[in-house]
Amino acid sequence: MRWSATFLHTLRDVPADAEVPSHRWLAKAGFLTKVASGIYVYAPAMWRVMRKVEAIVREEMDAAGGQELLMPAAQPKALWEKSGRWERYVADGILFTLADRKGAEMCLGPTHEEVVTDLADRQITSYRQLPVNLYQIQTKFRDEIRPRFGLMRGREFIMKDAYSFDADEAGLQVSYDAMVAAYHRIFERCGLDFTVVDADSGAIGGARSQEFMVNAETGEDAILMCGECSYGANVERATGRIEQGPMIDGDAPPMERVDTPGVKTVAGLAECLDLPETRLVKTVLYTANFTDRDEVVAVMIRGDLDVNETKLVNHLGALAVAVADEKTVVEATGAEPGFAGPIGLADHVRLVSDDSVEPMTSFECGGCETDVHLINVVFGRDLDVPEFSNLATARAGDGCPRCEGTLAEARGIEVGHVFQLGTKYSEAMGATFAGDDGHQAPFVMGCYGLGVSRVAAAAVEQHHDDNGMCWPTALAPWEAVVIPVSGKDEAQQEAAARIHDELEAAGIEVMLDDRDMGAGAKFKDAELVGFPWRIVCGRGVADGTAEVQARTSDTAEDAALGDVVAKITEAVEAGRASGA
Ligand code: ATP
Ligand code: MG
Repeated sequence: MRWSATFLHTLRDVPADAEVPSHRWLAKAGFLTKVASGIYVYAPAMWRVMRKVEAIVREEMDAAGGQELLMPAAQPKALWEKSGRWERYVADGILFTLADRKGAEMCLGPTHEEVVTDLADRQITSYRQLPVNLYQIQTKFRDEIRPRFGLMRGREFIMKDAYSFDADEAGLQVSYDAMVAAYHRIFERCGLDFTVVDADSGAIGGARSQEFMVNAETGEDAILMCGECSYGANVERATGRIEQGPMIDGDAPPMERVDTPGVKTVAGLAECLDLPETRLVKTVLYTANFTDRDEVVAVMIRGDLDVNETKLVNHLGALAVAVADEKTVVEATGAEPGFAGPIGLADHVRLVSDDSVEPMTSFECGGCETDVHLINVVFGRDLDVPEFSNLATARAGDGCPRCEGTLAEARGIEVGHVFQLGTKYSEAMGATFAGDDGHQAPFVMGCYGLGVSRVAAAAVEQHHDDNGMCWPTALAPWEAVVIPVSGKDEAQQEAAARIHDELEAAGIEVMLDDRDMGAGAKFKDAELVGFPWRIVCGRGVADGTAEVQARTSDTAEDAALGDVVAKITEAVEAGRASGA
């Protein structure tokens, strides 16, 4: 390809909203142009990258037994009512909804469990047609609260989503394992360094779920990993083993009210009572939304810990939770915010407690009265034992839940998410097949998402330097660029054109930078765009040589003009296969 005739226009400036390297470089190189928040044009270069990711995904999905189809982006509300998810997605605000001319409500698909479950119900009648794995590569729509980082979190983005249907749990296990293995191969071939962690199954629901995280400091997800064993989990899901704080030996003295004027924080109370935060219990009030009602929930948790809202939503089976506003707190506790406690709450408040409080033989907490706290509070004696659950946010430094090791925090970009759904959707939607005993049974399902556009961005996040992108060969829009240094020197021009043509004939995706501009600017653009290989035809041409340089190497090598094509072809072929 000749650059002068290619729609590949690098920019002088980076858009102001580009916060992370992948967004900065993709925008500066002209790969991405924003149309609206989280909505982009993929220029031809970007699309070439995307097609490569897709090709790798297709090959590995097909090899693992997947069958590609295409489902519609426009989905009727009625299907989502069958699964019972319409309300939750609307409450989350994630759904783009619209109405047709007759007023029937629809959405633009954020995911496709409903459509595919309905399809399976219509087409699969017998266990003999199972197992099946159906996948698509398609545009998804999500009205994200915080679209950002370019392709990382778009409102319109490309996903590969696969759905497996099995007759029983054992079958699901096999289907799931095959997808996990395929994901490993896909991300390796894309040249990504990644970690697999336990995940929260979120609004999609189901039992086991794991996420594939590309290791990157700019990742939006926090993950906790054990230094000793293989335990790793998204912080939304992770449980840490925490040390118990010091307790009073023997029976606690009677409960007492103490005046604590203006003491509204755990730190303030610790100082005022001269006690460690691990002896204090804070009570956080939430408003929880359910399909048919809102509830006020008070959550007890040890003073030094924080409530994990994802865990709370899951424990309550709520659509969403939010920290209660001041009015709600006053109504629930009869006190100003800062003095909530488990004793003296209004009758309508549901009390739950994090597991961290259970072993506390006595504790200090808010008094449900302005400027008052309670000390020496004992479960069973001073208040009923509440429902306990693991609701705390795990932290770096907590013990590993599986071994004696310690958890450390790392950041990651979630590029894939696999779930064992079980019969959640098939039961809700009445999607069944006839088993070998003739009885109708619901499909046992799995679902497997992979962010195609996010993979492309994650690759840049992991492969860039101060001058631009360093594409792994497998994803590079072009595998090599040939640059004649002088616009006037015919020998250089000719050598460059010949090398370009021969590389192209050898099946290498190559760009000839024939633009009428200085060599310095061309070198800069070549680094920015991130061609894995650069061939420079300069003064050496007179002596029969060109310079060959890998994007990731600091040094150029002289190669005989006659050897360049074989050298580059070999290197590119090795790169394509290795994920490097
Ligand atoms: P996240 O936690 O990042 O919001 P999710 O859990 O909502 O993602 P899934 O529903 O599991 O995502 O979607 C499958 C895959 O699609 C994700 O692993 C991710 O790679 C990709 N993905 C999800 N949301 C977006 C988005 N807004 N923009 C780009 N890719 C996305
Ligand atoms: Mg996810």
